[in-house]
Amino acid sequence: MSTARKCPICGKPPVEAFKPFCSKRCADIDLNRWLTGAYVIPARDDEPVNDDLAAGADEDDNI
Ligand SMILES: [Zn+2]
Repeated sequence: MSTARKCPICGKPPVEAFKPFCSKRCADIDLNRWLTGAYVIPARDDEPVNDDLAAGADEDDNI
């Protein structure tokens, strides 16, 4: 028996069918890390811009 190795993703004991992972899910996660690690994931560009809020507050302070 060899219980020294653990699933590198979650640390659970590996399953024979998916060694060295404990499940297909963890194997997929590791594969995904390999794939995404080779490419830089661009930051999402759909966040609202808050410049209008800051500018509006300044104008209200001027009397
Ligand atoms: Zn796992």
